[in-house]
Amino acid sequence: MIYLDNAATTRVSEEVFEAMKPYFCEQYANPSGIYSFAGRSMKAVDEARRSVAQLIGAQHDEIYFTAGGSESDNWAVKAAAAFCQKKGKHIITSKIEHHAVLHTCQYLEKQGYEVTYVDVDACGVIKLDELEAAIRPDTILITVMAANNEIGTIQPLREIGALAKKNGILFHTDAVQAYGHIPLDVDALHIDMLSASGHKFHGPKGIGFLYIRKGVRIGSFVHGGAQERSRRAGTLNVPGIVGIGAAARLAAASLQERQEQETALRDYLIRRVLEEIPYSRLNGHATDRLPGNANFCFRFIEGESLLILLDQQGICASSGSACTSGSLDPSHVLLALGLPHELAHGSLRLTLSEETTREDIDSTVDAVGRIVERLRSMSPLYEDFIKQNRKREA
Ligand SMILES: *Cc1c(COP(=O)(O)O)cnc(C)c1O
Repeated sequence: MIYLDNAATTRVSEEVFEAMKPYFCEQYANPSGIYSFAGRSMKAVDEARRSVAQLIGAQHDEIYFTAGGSESDNWAVKAAAAFCQKKGKHIITSKIEHHAVLHTCQYLEKQGYEVTYVDVDACGVIKLDELEAAIRPDTILITVMAANNEIGTIQPLREIGALAKKNGILFHTDAVQAYGHIPLDVDALHIDMLSASGHKFHGPKGIGFLYIRKGVRIGSFVHGGAQERSRRAGTLNVPGIVGIGAAARLAAASLQERQEQETALRDYLIRRVLEEIPYSRLNGHATDRLPGNANFCFRFIEGESLLILLDQQGICASSGSACTSGSLDPSHVLLALGLPHELAHGSLRLTLSEETTREDIDSTVDAVGRIVERLRSMSPLYEDFIKQNRKREA
């Protein structure tokens, strides 16, 4: 099997799994207890909190553990909206956010909030002039993702953060794809809230966190006990928290090396596909993109068929996001880039990890090339296109 769907989820590292193990059957205490058995669980939680904070230049007491990226996004956007509604009810986001942000914004629109969905350019970079022009006296929140989960484009967070700060607006970023993969610093980028998720960087599923800058006084999302400084109730997921902490430490230790290795392999993949497969295009930015992300369109190809045939070769890939597969709508991200519907249907996302080898890439490019050729040979549209081309040349 060749696994090239690391944007959907990653393998839990052996080190992470080993670190978590004692917290199931041995060190199982509820960390809220007052006995020393519980204290040892709390100590492990504190250590993990420091580890995840360190990777983004945050303080440990600005980290709130959640059940993952979707919860963190919901919390940040809904709680900011509720807390700031006296100031106004206007939110700014981008057209290419993850559904955890987009659908939350749509929910808020039904509650009487107004949302501006700012456009991106052909590479998927948010249009900063449009963002600035959208700011109004009643704007309370700007939420723009750090890097896109489909096309990998990295957003100009520093500029967005500066705009938010200058105008006294809260800035939230969904950094689920970026955290642990590219450097992030909440102070340098003027980030007030940041979402991340364990399973996107070799930690376990069902654990994430929301960074909330000290002084940002949004309400709690889950009401109940006093856990997480009374801002997110519920017995702490100790094995998950230990796991995300270990994953953050591993990510920090190898960040630069991994970035370089994956970028080189990604660029090799992109070069081979664009050179060897006719009528293919790269989606997203050529350089400002996640180290492990490549996203292509192949004209005259239906993305679903390509994925099914790749699966038959033991290759796990995706057409965009896990959330849109199963639906026949083309990706909202590819449409926002300005791609026509028929092209947006033929996309292929290949996402690498540090475990991906050059052999994996070679086998995959060979398989994609063969499958694209075979599917086109069965396409009347492609046949017409080739005939037209020949006529034009003659
Ligand atoms: C995966 C993902 C999420 C959702 O995270 P979960 O932990 O799976 O809930 C949110 N945003 C982005 C950009 C993602 O890639």
